Amino acid sequence: MATVVYPGTFDPITNGHSDIVQRAVAIFDRVVVGVAGSTAKHTVFSTDERVALAKRVFDGVKRVEVARFDGLLVDFVRKAGSTLVLRGLRAVSDFEHEFQLASMNRQLAPDIDSIFLTPAEQYAYISSSLVREIAALGGDVTRFVHPAVMAALKERLANKPRTGGS
Ligand code: ADP
Repeated sequence: MATVVYPGTFDPITNGHSDIVQRAVAIFDRVVVGVAGSTAKHTVFSTDERVALAKRVFDGVKRVEVARFDGLLVDFVRKAGSTLVLRGLRAVSDFEHEFQLASMNRQLAPDIDSIFLTPAEQYAYISSSLVREIAALGGDVTRFVHPAVMAALKERLANKPRTGGS
């Protein structure tokens, strides 16, 4: 049984992420969405919240599991019974960072491979950070995220003064 692990921060999960997962489900037997607990990024949603939102989005979707992971990705991949890391590539600008990550993971675990999928065109410009920014400014993010994510964003961000800047 071929299992692939799709790791990320998912702060929050977007329709772009879901598109990648749907493509992976068509190729692999099992897709484990790994929500990173230990991340250098400051997140708007806690790890538990990011996991809960991803679980909502894939509720009832067969062969997709959501789990948090802390520590090294390669250890999580092994624990999931996989040797494959899936990442999404939106544009050339993603490549350099992804190539670096894949190379570093190969140094840590030569038996684990990274593979890449591209989303449908209409999702290629979606990023969690832009979605957060639009929601914080009171914009409509209906087309970019699941309704549960939209509600969570509304509650967390809308009408809150932005920090930083002048
Ligand atoms: P990370 O902090 O690990 O980059 P993200 O949640 O931002 O976590 O992204 C997880 C993965 O999904 C990354 O490989 C990223 O390039 C990819 N990704 C993010 N947004 C999209 C999108 N709209 N379409 C396809 N892939 C995406």
